[in-house]
Amino acid sequence: MSEIKEPKSKFIKVRCPKCKNEQIIFGKSSSEIKCLVCGKVLAEPTSGKSKIKSRILEVLE
Ligand SMILES: [Zn+2]
Repeated sequence: MSEIKEPKSKFIKVRCPKCKNEQIIFGKSSSEIKCLVCGKVLAEPTSGKSKIKSRILEVLE
């Protein structure tokens, strides 16, 4: 058996600070994540993991 050392994929539920839309985003995205409703940037990529720029409501695994 080989051990896979891959970090768990985490999904994060966030709330857009602008329009209060709740959206589930991927915590390790390599691209900007925008609010689906108003287009505000909710998270931006920083060296492998996303910098969340919105309110985190819940972390899902
Ligand atoms: Zn929004």
